[in-house]
Amino acid sequence: MARIVQKYGGTSVGDVERIKKVAERIKYTRDDGNEVVVVVSARSGVTNELIARAKSISENPSERELDQLLSIGEQETIALIAMALQAIGVPAVSFTGSQAGIVTDKVHTKAKIQTINASAIEKELKAGKVVIVAGFQGINADGQTTTLGRGGSDLTAIALAAPLKADKCEIYTDVDGVYTADPRVVKNARKIEEISYDEMLELASAGSKVMQSRSVEFASKYGVVFEVRSSFNHNPGTIVKAEVASMESVVVRGVAVDKDQAKVIVSNILDKPGSAAKVFRALADAHIIVDMIVQNVGRNGIANLTFTVPQGDSTKAVRALENVLDEVGGGQVAIHPQIAKLSVVGVGMKTHSGVAATLFQALADANVNIELITTSEIKISVVIDQDRADEAARVAHAAFKLDQV
Ligand code: ADP
Ligand code: ASP
Ligand code: MG
Repeated sequence: MARIVQKYGGTSVGDVERIKKVAERIKYTRDDGNEVVVVVSARSGVTNELIARAKSISENPSERELDQLLSIGEQETIALIAMALQAIGVPAVSFTGSQAGIVTDKVHTKAKIQTINASAIEKELKAGKVVIVAGFQGINADGQTTTLGRGGSDLTAIALAAPLKADKCEIYTDVDGVYTADPRVVKNARKIEEISYDEMLELASAGSKVMQSRSVEFASKYGVVFEVRSSFNHNPGTIVKAEVASMESVVVRGVAVDKDQAKVIVSNILDKPGSAAKVFRALADAHIIVDMIVQNVGRNGIANLTFTVPQGDSTKAVRALENVLDEVGGGQVAIHPQIAKLSVVGVGMKTHSGVAATLFQALADANVNIELITTSEIKISVVIDQDRADEAARVAHAAFKLDQV
């Protein structure tokens, strides 16, 4: 008997018919003699709708109350899946994050999982039940409901697979696996059979929505091998696992686009030790993740800092920065939301040259202007105009011949 954790995303449980189909799939896995723990997301669109409703009441809603609200999306689907299973004769029980023993820190709307006490799940599995757990949520030490950041049901599934010592962790979604680029944007993108944690992590944090980046970080840390596959067919998906030597022969594994970033320019601040520290401390204290930092060469004792932040955090960033401008000699903050970050990722970059030249030439040929550039060992990212992003992804995909095996 194997123990399997399955996660079904928002589209896979999008309506009653799909919920019934998911129940059939779970029954099939259980009838095969497996113990099954299922993590589900809210129906697709529900979390966005709840956020929009909150924002229509208050421009800046309390994050505690947002978590109270957002957690109900997943609570609907766990109960419906459990009912659908019971209706076809499968004993099942649904658990909220708190009932499943998922304890997080106190950072509302993007809490980190601290511990998992899986004993309640274990007890129900022993009693022969399928356990359905609400993704994306937990409880903090004060007993408050928290959520794990957008896409956080992936994290719930991977984090549960570790203490449950699951033999398999399957992430069911609405595409056949991880592709060389978003298949909805780049039509000739190819499904990747196997990808390393590092590459998956870079793609996810560069905007490939197929996996939440923190879930991949967690999988890498605890060695949870997982498969991304479709809930609509039985095709094999993509295995995400530790790097093996043969992976380095592929220079660029994939292309990612992130349209949810905003460019922030902090201009006319004092060019002296401590200025950058104060600016980024203010952002860190507001729990804002900063990426792509560029500082120009100071002139006349004055410098400009440019960086990107998640678009949803831009108002919070301006507020945090305005509080420290006086301490760095005055200056101004400007936000540019109409940007996109395009990244190419591959472990083979560690040992191959010319990737930047190929990418920049391809963008130049398409007349796409590059505003910012950053690199890591296995990734090159550029900030470009948002309106050109999809075209730029297709151009980069073709330049690295990613449509060819
Ligand atoms: P779920 O609701 O199942 O969690 P998501 O919408 O979060 O699903 O993620 C799946 C989507 O990710 C796909 O529909 C696809 O458009 C998008 N996507 C972006 N980049 C990639 C990629 N490289 N490979 C596969 N899908 C991708
Ligand atoms: N429902 C949450 C979201 O839309 C979590 C998830 O789907 O993984 O972000
Ligand atoms: Mg998702």
